[in-house]
Amino acid sequence: MPHEEPDPMPEDLLNWLEDEDSLTDVVDEQQLEDEAANAYLDAEDEYVPIDDGKGYLAVSGTEAGSILSALPPGSTVTETASAPTVVSRDSSLTGDRPIYLVHRGGRNAELLPWVMGELHHKKGRSIAIGAVANLPAAKGEKLGGFLRQASVAALRIADPQCYRLDEKVLRLSPSPIGKRAWGYAPYLSTTEDTDWVLQVLDAQRAIGANLLLTPGRALDPDTPQASLDSAFQEADEALALTERGERLALNLTLPSRWLSSEALRNRLLDQILDQDQFDVLYIRIQWAQAKAFAPTEDGDLLMGIKRLSNLCADEGRPLLLPQTGITGWFALAHGAAGYGLGFSGSEQSFAEYAFRRARKGQQQAQRYFEKQMLHTVDSSAHDVVRSSQGYVDCTCTYCPQLFRNPTWSHALAALHHLYCMGELTARVHEDSARGGRHGAVRRIVANARRWSSELPLGTNDVPRHLASWDQAL
Ligand SMILES: [Zn+2]
Repeated sequence: MPHEEPDPMPEDLLNWLEDEDSLTDVVDEQQLEDEAANAYLDAEDEYVPIDDGKGYLAVSGTEAGSILSALPPGSTVTETASAPTVVSRDSSLTGDRPIYLVHRGGRNAELLPWVMGELHHKKGRSIAIGAVANLPAAKGEKLGGFLRQASVAALRIADPQCYRLDEKVLRLSPSPIGKRAWGYAPYLSTTEDTDWVLQVLDAQRAIGANLLLTPGRALDPDTPQASLDSAFQEADEALALTERGERLALNLTLPSRWLSSEALRNRLLDQILDQDQFDVLYIRIQWAQAKAFAPTEDGDLLMGIKRLSNLCADEGRPLLLPQTGITGWFALAHGAAGYGLGFSGSEQSFAEYAFRRARKGQQQAQRYFEKQMLHTVDSSAHDVVRSSQGYVDCTCTYCPQLFRNPTWSHALAALHHLYCMGELTARVHEDSARGGRHGAVRRIVANARRWSSELPLGTNDVPRHLASWDQAL
């Protein structure tokens, strides 16, 4: 009886699967701590015109991130640069701008449309934004509201997360589907129904997704062909159920072995190549992670990500790598069309679950993303890095308030992180005249490696991934 299972401990879940119901205990504390961030939401609504003359982008206030067709009475239009027109779903998939997917997690979700609006305003000519809401994470109205408000997003995805059923294949937290998640995503308990795939699609349609996903059950590396066959069979069924004007992405969930082992990788790539009825791919990869916010250094896995990205680029089939954080950014060099990240550690990579006992009274780590290092460090290391020669202060909207505030605001630090990654993604496009995206990423990585090799950093803060990345480029 899954409905009677107790919910996992919140402190475990914070690192892994973020559901609304796992967060109720921390909300009060979080609200206090994030007053600084919430003050932004109370700011007056301000608007900038959209290039096509057909609307206004709210850049601050409660509507931030939304595009309105007409200005509300008495509102202010800011006399700064206008915002670009949002490209259509299909143009974003076939266009030359990298796709930046923003995942809606449980924490501070209300702040996301705001940073997405900011990114669209300032970087929207170089990136296309996508919004991803996880269906088992919250009520449909809430998720639909998020997708509506984030109207700068060319892609709206409602991820069914059916892989949460695959505890035997993936390493998931105990009870990966919380008590309320069964209610939010009822299709998770009806897999035996003959119209199950339709139920999965309808749940995505109901909240306004414009790029539908196949169920995306995890592929078992121990029974490779059988699990590929079953995933593609479900995907074919989904394709047959799509209606005029709808678009479907092949959604796969892979334990990393599928990409790091050459035999499995070849089998997977052959299958993808063969099944060209799926012209968009959405592939989630689970790997072991030693430390939150640290990207993978596994050379075999990076090689697998590279081959997969190369194949999709060669075939002109956009590859989206959800929940990959800066590792997904790296994959842009090899032909991935886009990647995703969110506020929390769990959205920077789909990490294998490992039990970590939270010590009583232990404070959440204060993390800061260093753009020049392509790495997230402890805020104490930031002070060291900042006083080093050649350091360039971040110019995002959030940093002045983050460093002025007497208590560390995790929300402002996360907004800074999301904004900076968007900026780095834009730079890959802007600097692609020499050597394409590959050239751009290689230059950024080489600079980061050169610059950070001189820094007096503690072992925990050294950007060790840069050496393996440099090699893989
Ligand atoms: Zn910043």
